[in-house]
Formats: sequence, structure tokens, C-alpha cells
Amino acid sequence: MYTVNRVSELAIFGNPPAFQEKLHVGRPNVGDRDRLLERINDILDRKWFSNNGNYVQEFERKISEYTGAKHCIAICNGTIALEILVRALGLTGEVIIPSFTFVATAHALQWQEITPVFCDIDPATHTLDPNQVKRLITPRTSGIIGVHVWGRPCQTEELAEIAAQYNLKLAFDASHAVGCSHNGQMIGNFGEAEVFSFHATKFLNAFEGGAVVTNNDELAAKIRLMKNFGFGPGYDNVVYVGTNGKMNEVAAAMGVTGLESIDTFIEQNYRNYKQYQTELADIDGVKLAAYNELEKNNYQYIILEIDPAIAGINRNELVQVLHAENVLARRYFYPGCHKMHPYQSYFPNAGLLLPQTEALTEKVMSLPTGTGVTPEDISKICQIICLAIKESHKVKHFLNSAV
Ligand SMILES: *Cc1c(COP(=O)(O)O)cnc(C)c1O
Repeated sequence: MYTVNRVSELAIFGNPPAFQEKLHVGRPNVGDRDRLLERINDILDRKWFSNNGNYVQEFERKISEYTGAKHCIAICNGTIALEILVRALGLTGEVIIPSFTFVATAHALQWQEITPVFCDIDPATHTLDPNQVKRLITPRTSGIIGVHVWGRPCQTEELAEIAAQYNLKLAFDASHAVGCSHNGQMIGNFGEAEVFSFHATKFLNAFEGGAVVTNNDELAAKIRLMKNFGFGPGYDNVVYVGTNGKMNEVAAAMGVTGLESIDTFIEQNYRNYKQYQTELADIDGVKLAAYNELEKNNYQYIILEIDPAIAGINRNELVQVLHAENVLARRYFYPGCHKMHPYQSYFPNAGLLLPQTEALTEKVMSLPTGTGVTPEDISKICQIICLAIKESHKVKHFLNSAV
């Protein structure tokens, strides 16, 4: 097995990298390939490619069963699912969301000229801090969208209390949280509705895909109309303004096939998580984001927090070392939505209210995991991290002299 034992073996010092091929974060989880191809052949034989086909119906039914939520409406991707949900909920004015999220959460609002108001997070959970949410409520606020970052649930009870007190709609961007539970209840049952993403990099993928999951009959009916041009029953019967948010049959077949292997994906992710946890436990200055093992988790994200005061190198330096070794660690969610355009120009001082977000975006990175990563890969990655920290003064010196 490869052992990195001298800092001069790091690729940044000119030697071959630890990994010959680049190891990406978010490699797709693929279920039974033969079953998928059978299903795609079936779709081609039946010549029904979209418009609420058999596989979309099956996928919706199975997501409903899996989450225990009454309705699942499959959508072409998570972003459009968010946009449709925002519209179906009648959100207007301002909506409170975290800045520490993928930018689509903010865009889904801004796209409809609703102002995303960025709220700080609790550094322990990386999700919305309910106390900060309260402080941002104005007469224009119409809702709160929490994000279950890394699949770790928001403080749903506290948020629900605030929403009830101020008469706001509460929904969740659950893009990361397929297969996760909170207080024993599957994600998909909190707030007015929750949105899943089935993008290729997500835990369960449909190549591209998304869904709105809800227990609200009226909301579900509205979203079904909206995602299909507002078509009512029968032919040529438009009853509502709508868009095209339909999921196609091949995507749904991929989703159905992935669902059959979901326990295997979780087992593999869990093994990887435990191995990272063990092998990084004794390294000072790095901390793995922990999952509550009393709940269901998909363990899809391996999130490392680096404390430069202890580690001797900062997150960006460690990312550079890992990249030089072909480990393409990612700085999720860097630099935070409030520092991206157009939000940065709309709210140039937003950072003043987001100290925890700004601190976290400088400290965290995401490491490779999933079904494509072997135990040997993980050992090697942990050794690189260990070595980079042990030899931090050399790494710093090298990176400084390299520019
Ligand atoms: C992936 C993601 C989205 C967008 O989902 P797509 O299916 O890629 O459109 C939205 N929010 C979060 C938090 C995400 O991670």
C-alpha cells in the first residue's frame, strides 16, 4: 500500500501525485446497471417518454412510501422544484434562507423577484440558527426556507414555532437529505413541503431530477398543475399559469433503480464515514462533521473542519495539497451565497450579520466518498492530511515560495 511518509513525496514538491487518477467529490452512485438498461429498453418499446409515464408514477409512489409523506411530485430538477414550490406557497417580498447553501436556494427566490434574506447558521449544526431567523423578520417576510445541509436536519421544531408565531410559511430544501430522519421521522414530512434533488452528484440520482414532497393535499394538487403548464383534466384545458417541470421517463427509471440499492449506498457511505472518523481521530486541528447515529443518515458528505491555529495550515492550503495529490476536495459552500452575484451587490454589508457563516466558509471542505471510493483510497487521503499537518511549516513554506 502507498505510504506517504515524507513531505517531499507530496506532488507539490514535484513528485508524482499520490493518486494517478483524479478522485472527485460527488461521483454518482449507480444501482443495478442491467435493471436500468432493461427499464430504458422498456421505455423505448412502449414509446412513452414523458408526461406522467409509468416510471415517473412508480418513482413518485416509491418516494412517498420511503419517506412516509402523502405526496411526491417528481420534477425535472431540484432548482425548478424549489421555484415551483415557492410559487405554489405564494411567497412574496422577503424569504429567510441560510447563506451557507448551494446558490440554487437563493436563485429560486430571486428568479421570481423575491428577496432572499440571508440568515446566519449555528456553527455546531451548519444549519439555520433560529434565534437569528427571528431577528430578520420584517413586515415583508413571507416565509422561511431551511436547508438540511449535509443531510443533517434543521431545528425544525424551533423554526415551526417561529413560523406559526409570525404567520410565515415554512419549507425545507432537503436536496441533501434523501434517506435521513429527524426525531425518528423521515425527511419529507417537515414544514409545508420539502424539496429533494436527484442530481447526479446527490445521494440518490436520476441523472437530473427533483421532487416536492408534502402532506398537504391542496398544495400537492397545485404543484401538479404548475409543473405541467397548468393543464387541468382532459385535453386543451389550461386552468392555471404553469411551467414545464416534468421529469422524463429515463430519469425516473434511474431513480427507481437507485432506490432499489439505497441500503447498499448507505452502508458503503457509512463504512467510509467510520473509516475517515477513525483515521482522522488523532490528527489535531481537523474535525469531521458528525452524524447523529440514532437517526437515519445517508452519510453522503464527508465534511472536514480545519482549525488553522492548531493544524498549522489553513483550509485553502490543505485543499491545495490534496489537489496536488489528485484528491479533488471541494470548498462547499464557498464563499457563501451573500458573496456571490448579484447578492453581493444587493447586500454589500450582509457579512456583518453572518459571522458564523463567514467563519465556516473559510474552514470546511468536502472529501471524496461514495460507492467509487475504496478503503485504500481513504487511508491514503487521511495520510496526506496527517502528513500535511505534521509538516505544516514545510507545506506553508513551499506554497508561499511557489507563488
Ligand atoms: C443540489 C442542490 C440544489 C439544486 O438541485 P438541482 O437538482 O441540481 O437543481 C438546491 N439546493 C441544494 C442545497 C443543493 O445541494
